[in-house]
Formats: sequence, C-alpha cells, structure tokens
Amino acid sequence: MSEIAEKFTEIRESLPDDVRLVAATKSRSVEEIKEVIEAGAKYIGENYTHPEATEKYEKMGELKEEVNWELIGHLQKNDINKALPIFDRVQTVESVSKAEHIDKRVEKAEKNVVPILIEVNSGGEESKYGIEPTETALEEVVRGISGLEHLRLEGLMTMGPYRGDPEDARPYFRLTKELFEAGKNYVEGDDRMEILSMGMSNSYRVAVEEGANMVRVGTGIFGPR
Ligand SMILES: *Cc1c(COP(=O)(O)O)cnc(C)c1O
Repeated sequence: MSEIAEKFTEIRESLPDDVRLVAATKSRSVEEIKEVIEAGAKYIGENYTHPEATEKYEKMGELKEEVNWELIGHLQKNDINKALPIFDRVQTVESVSKAEHIDKRVEKAEKNVVPILIEVNSGGEESKYGIEPTETALEEVVRGISGLEHLRLEGLMTMGPYRGDPEDARPYFRLTKELFEAGKNYVEGDDRMEILSMGMSNSYRVAVEEGANMVRVGTGIFGPR
C-alpha cells in the first residue's frame, strides 16, 4: 500500500462510519489525488484556482466520476461559471448575495440544483470568510437562500481559528454545532441542516467530538505541503 493509501485508511478506520472524510487536495498532484481515490476516498475537497483546478480535474479521467467534488476554498464571483461544472457541492457560501450569484449561473452549467453549505466565521476573524457566528445572521442567510430555485442548502461549514493546540478550536466547533441545531428551525422545502463540515488534520478528532459529520483532512493524508 502507498503511504497515502495507508494514511487515508488509518484515518478512515478511526472515524465513526457516519462521518464523511474529505481528502483536501489543494496543491496535490493528479497522481496523489488518484492514489487517494483508489484507496477509497469518496469526497475530494479542492480550492478553486484557475486554471489549475480545471486542468487537474480534466486529467483525472474516469476516476473523477467516482467521487464527490467539494469546493472548500473561497469562491470568487468571477470564478463561479468555471467552478460550477466541476463541483458537486459548494461549502463556502458566505452571504445571500453570493448565493444569488451562484443560483443565477446553475443552468448555464447544465445543472438543475447545486448543493451548498453556509460557511460560518466561527472565530469572528477579520481574515476569514463566512457569516457572523450568531443565530440572527444564520437565520437571515438561511431564509434568503430558501427562495433560490437552483440551490439546496445542506448544512454548515467552518474553519475556526487555526492554532497549534486543537483544544483551542473546541469552543468554535461547539458554537457552530449550536448554530447547526438552531438552523434546523429555519430551513424549509428541500433545504436541510444535515452536514456539519468542520475539523482539519490537527483538529478533526476534536471536531467529531463536538458533532462534525464531515471532516476535511489534507496534510494528515498527504504529508506536509
Ligand atoms: C487545506 C484545507 C483543509 C485541510 O487542511 P490540513 O491542515 O492540510 O488538513 C481543510 N479545509 C480547508 C477549507 C482547507 O483549505
């Protein structure tokens, strides 16, 4: 087994079955991404950067059909048209206006519906994207998205402040989980609060303890960038 396959399998086996493991592949080669898919990865998390992401995706060949492509990096308005054909879910919607911009472009990408998560800036950091971590802000965005025909809200995503000690991330994961539960009161129609995407290589164990059912792991699988 390759080292990537070994690491992936080790982490996969350490997680409860109902926790989805996203392999975060920014800056990884096509070969590395193929290895992790062959090891059983079902979710690939990429940051959309033009033209690298498109080229990488094209080079994946048939293997790309076997996995769900998750957009986990910030989506610039100008990149929406190019990103939509690639990604099966956009995890980084941070405002009603961004949601509207995506909604308008879904049909052009020859899709009917794009699943999305709302990104929460759980640490309230200037340098990070996402909605303010309050129930008021969440309610406003959930209600704003519910009228959009081509988007289906599926849950929340957060990065949380990155520090050395994973325990430092715990309060931010806990806060996001509370918002996730509160959000269930506002979703309507096909929208839902089902996916809670939080935790990275250093913090995914803590995130799962706090209720994450999707974790995004890069260096823990592929080694240092
Ligand atoms: C890169 C990245 C990850 C994975 O980070 P690692 O520390 O390499 O595990 C997770 N989430 C997002 C949004 C990322 O950009």
